[in-house]
Amino acid sequence: MSHQATLSRTDLKALDHWIDGASAKPAGGKYLETANPMTGQPHMRVAAGSAEDVESAVKAAVEARDGWRRYVAAERGRLMLRLAQAIRDNKDKLAEMERTDSGKPMAGALAEIEGSAHYFEFYGSLVYLPQGDVIDVAPDQHVFTKREPYGVIGVITPWNLPLNQAARAIAPALVAGNVVVAKPSEITSQTTIEMARLASEVGFPKGVINIVLGTGIDVGEAIVRHDEVRKVAFTGSVGVGRAIGKIAAERIIPLTLELGGKSANIVFEDADLDVAAAEAVKGFTLNAGQVCSAGTRILVQRSIYEEFTQKLAAETAKIKPGENLGPIITPAQFQRVQSYFKVAEEDGARVLAGGKVAKVKGQEEGFYVEPTVYADVDNAMRIAQEEVFGPVGVAIPFDTEEDAIRIANDSDYGLIGTLWSRDISRALRVADRIEAGQIFVNIWNTMSVQTPFGGHKNSGYGREKGIEAIHHYSHLKTVTVKI
Ligand code: NAD
Repeated sequence: MSHQATLSRTDLKALDHWIDGASAKPAGGKYLETANPMTGQPHMRVAAGSAEDVESAVKAAVEARDGWRRYVAAERGRLMLRLAQAIRDNKDKLAEMERTDSGKPMAGALAEIEGSAHYFEFYGSLVYLPQGDVIDVAPDQHVFTKREPYGVIGVITPWNLPLNQAARAIAPALVAGNVVVAKPSEITSQTTIEMARLASEVGFPKGVINIVLGTGIDVGEAIVRHDEVRKVAFTGSVGVGRAIGKIAAERIIPLTLELGGKSANIVFEDADLDVAAAEAVKGFTLNAGQVCSAGTRILVQRSIYEEFTQKLAAETAKIKPGENLGPIITPAQFQRVQSYFKVAEEDGARVLAGGKVAKVKGQEEGFYVEPTVYADVDNAMRIAQEEVFGPVGVAIPFDTEEDAIRIANDSDYGLIGTLWSRDISRALRVADRIEAGQIFVNIWNTMSVQTPFGGHKNSGYGREKGIEAIHHYSHLKTVTVKI
């Protein structure tokens, strides 16, 4: 992937913005070129947007804003359900786009598209939810609250689950009565554009969903800085989240920040070890480990450490690059994952499985690595503290429940925590003390649309998903009437 805006090869498919209900070429006429991570070959040309394109998109959104807000709620809900259906009707096409953009196996791509449809269905069915209260203040006053949309919401998303993360923010934003200017990752832009096109096809008014393509610096920042953008939902890295946070602080606008993770997966000696091992491996290899909620720190009670790490190695051997394990997204990220193999070994971690680049037959230039597990890892090692964003797990021994909690919380992140035990009292005690937005007991990350999701510490703030998210896309107005 070249991040330079160049006038690139005309034989590749070109992808343009979606503004005011129609495809729109970049004002500067420039395109970025992406690579297919399975083959390393040039993949497509993506509009290299600019502040000028953001201006057009925001203008369209502002023109659509009041009309959309006055839409009868039931009609807004019906449109959302129609869009969910259109996404399902086009699931093969959308999954193929996701597969070729990011290299993920088809099964994963299809699951992601289904999740995306479900967001529009779930929030479409909650259209009457943003409600207010009547507050008893005094006999001669009638006081009530009502939920109001912010207006234009900026949505900025990463490349790992592209349509899913776009839908996760756009669906609750729309149902709360907002209009949207979104920027998908420049690496995986196809499905977000296709979703906006389908929205127009099923009857969404023009200007309600606008998508501007391009880099974070040229487009993302222009969205966050725009006066008419009144809230931003950002999913991505801590560094960019912090940069956006500074601009939002100057502008005094609210943010939802969904950032990275280094989540703990705690296996107690009384757990079902076979299930825990299989799920632990899923936890750090799903989407080639390129998932914010990956359970990359596997904390294992010392009494079962040898037995469990053997099971981990056996389960890891079932994960095959090019079959059920996709490539790393870009050459830069591919290099970064390899640099962590070196870091782990230099710091004294023992390779249980993997630790190398993988060669996939017929895709020799693809960005594949072996699924990798390190044993004898100390939580202070860089491999235990830093988000690798590749299929890499570490097994850390612990002695007592107290130890497990201390190690789990000894992280800058706090996205999810998983624990495996047959003792429900212990599970509840530990769940209570893990610093993370969501805890799973005897199951790994269900990724349900209905459950609130978000971080503690560097993993971010605000909540996406569930009924909770709707409240993050509207603010409360109190009206007092003298009677
Ligand atoms: P990234 O932060 O590099 O980019 C995310 C998005 O921000 C992209 O669209 C990018 O173009 C844009 N961007 C970059 N610089 C910007 C700037 N200065 N201003 C505005 N926008 C800018 O992240 P990534 O590499 O695409 O994704 C991987 C990261 O995302 C990982 O850290 C992962 O943990 C995190 N993530 C978090 C969640 C969650 O829900 N918590 C979900 C998925 C991924």
